[in-house]
Amino acid sequence: MRSGGGVLGYNAVVGSSEDAVVDVADKKKVVVLGTGWAATNFMKNLNNPKYDVQVVSPRNYFAFTPLLPSVTCGTVEARSIVEPVRNIFPKKNVEVQFSEAECIKIDAENKKVYCRSISKNNLNGQEEFAVDYDILIISVGANVNTFNTPGVVENCHFLKEVEDAEKIRRTVIDCFERASLPDISEEERKRILHFAIVGGGPTGVEFAAALHDFVNGDLVKLYPGVKDLVKITLLEAGNHILSMFDKRITNFAEEKFGREGIDVKTGSMVVKVTDKEICTKELKNGGQITSIPYGMAVWSTGIGTRPFIKDFMSQIGQGNRRALLTDEWLRVEGFNDVYALGDCATINQRKVMEDIAAIFKKADKNNSGTLTVKEFQEVMGDICERYPQVELYLKNKQMSNISDLLKEDNVDVKKQLNIEELKTALSKVDSQMKFLPATAQVASQQGTYLAKCFNRMEDCEENPEGPLRFRGEGRHRFKPFRYKHLGQFAPLGGEKTAAQLPGDWVSIGHSSQWLWYSVYASKQVTWRTRALVVTDWTRRFVFGRDSSRI
Ligand code: FAD
Repeated sequence: MRSGGGVLGYNAVVGSSEDAVVDVADKKKVVVLGTGWAATNFMKNLNNPKYDVQVVSPRNYFAFTPLLPSVTCGTVEARSIVEPVRNIFPKKNVEVQFSEAECIKIDAENKKVYCRSISKNNLNGQEEFAVDYDILIISVGANVNTFNTPGVVENCHFLKEVEDAEKIRRTVIDCFERASLPDISEEERKRILHFAIVGGGPTGVEFAAALHDFVNGDLVKLYPGVKDLVKITLLEAGNHILSMFDKRITNFAEEKFGREGIDVKTGSMVVKVTDKEICTKELKNGGQITSIPYGMAVWSTGIGTRPFIKDFMSQIGQGNRRALLTDEWLRVEGFNDVYALGDCATINQRKVMEDIAAIFKKADKNNSGTLTVKEFQEVMGDICERYPQVELYLKNKQMSNISDLLKEDNVDVKKQLNIEELKTALSKVDSQMKFLPATAQVASQQGTYLAKCFNRMEDCEENPEGPLRFRGEGRHRFKPFRYKHLGQFAPLGGEKTAAQLPGDWVSIGHSSQWLWYSVYASKQVTWRTRALVVTDWTRRFVFGRDSSRI
């Protein structure tokens, strides 16, 4: 194993320090793991010549994951949503190196990460090397979570990476070609053309909608002989699909899918997958086991932890957690020089209740231990502004006792409420909403936040800006990270999208679809991918989707 990845032959300096006047000895070595949403936004915004950065990732590109479902059906091409990191990272004043390798072990005690090159036969036969760091940024995203369901890894497709989306695209067309071969029984044709999607979250729903559009807009014209045999089933263990969205969106999606013939089976928990059948436990029918023949299955039920992160978590006493626990400054608990962001991390929210208690105390001017409903509504306005996840939780989980008090129309605003009882009710929210959503929005805001902190490190060491209560400990020079929720989309097919925006604003239909097009075009990381994506959308409008299996 070699040390110091920076000297390796296949590393390339992707940024240079032409203008930097910082002495090399003064520079801190920052190692960034990953090239996803969190890492890319960190790199794009980092501008401090005091850092010497080495990025390690098995992917030498950034992928715009929200458009992966569009890639599965050829609405956009895979290469339109990726950008080489060597195009994104170059900086005038920060030295950046990139190593195409995966981290396999973190040794925080000796400040080293161990990595393995992804191309075999590199490094004169050695595939592994070690990289030293002063500061480590872990932004490696997450794995697919199969909940250890037997047969899933062997038989299901996932929709996590660009390669997955391309594989799904080929398999869909393959199913149509196989079902069109002669000498196949009607029953077998039906099985081959049964597309099962497991998981009724945003990704599963969007894929079901995209597949329905692809089949009905393009494939049925090309395969008229089998068009009546196609079936799409969406299996969801919970009572509803899109349960993290507003009720109006959930209802609309379920009704729309019902009208279009997408079979939404709620209360169906997949317990086993074989090469031709999915076994489900019907939770609404006393746990009855049903076997469903299928031709292609896509598994989309949430995220799990990468094995080397699990290993690191066990080393540092976080073995029983789902993701790396950080403080509100994104530092892994117990470490000053290891940060974790994006899907692989979660912020420890224990300070939330302290802050909420302080806000209540301030509002209770007479020290009476009570607040009127009107005062409570104002207090909650402050709390939700500070902790958008509280607002999200209250809306989505419908905590009726608190949520009802916030509905201005149907409560007596002068009614007195006991502060202790309110705090107890809210502590339930706090204990259940520990995690920020695992979204690109959170990951990119964290990456940008951290880069801005690093850019102003020297300034803030002299003039700290963090909350007064922490400054004495000399730890917190910055304001803590605060997530700003900008809303979420759920594309439902047929040029209709559901949008849930801040301020309880829900819109469903063609206008939201155009909003979706403009937001996703504007969020592209470079003008090149923006142009490619818009061109693909236009091509699809004019010529339809390409159904060649290449
Ligand atoms: P990622 O973006 O997953 O990046 C992880 C990086 O780490 C990758 O570069 C990977 O190659 C690298 N890596 C992996 N293993 C290692 C290793 N061992 N060593 C070094 N590097 C490693 N979010 C939204 O907000 N809106 C959406 O519409 C949306 N749609 C989505 C649709 C799909 C199909 C999917 C899969 C996700 C979607 N998401 C969406 C979620 C969003 O993509 C994730 O939350 C986001 O990618 C998390 O960013 P990240 O930087 O933590 O991880």
